[in-house]
Amino acid sequence: MRLGIWIAYRYNRPMAQKYGTFLSMIDGHHIYLQCECGRQAEVPVLAMIEALGPEARLKDVAERSRCNGCGRRGAIAELRIFYKVKQT
Ligand SMILES: [Zn+2]
Repeated sequence: MRLGIWIAYRYNRPMAQKYGTFLSMIDGHHIYLQCECGRQAEVPVLAMIEALGPEARLKDVAERSRCNGCGRRGAIAELRIFYKVKQT
């Protein structure tokens, strides 16, 4: 599977922390996270729901994600919701 078009919604950090969207409403999407240390991750929203629970909101992702690089929690420099378009 190739990564196709990114349909990305950009939020700056304060917006992401306030943002109240339920993850269950965007469970077909992925979330791109960049830590303040520069490490990047792409995580399926479904995996976020498994980790944070069915009532989790986007702000929980921003606040509770821990970086695998520097170990800090909630040090999100950038958060994007995107949809991976499968190309055949
Ligand atoms: Zn980090």
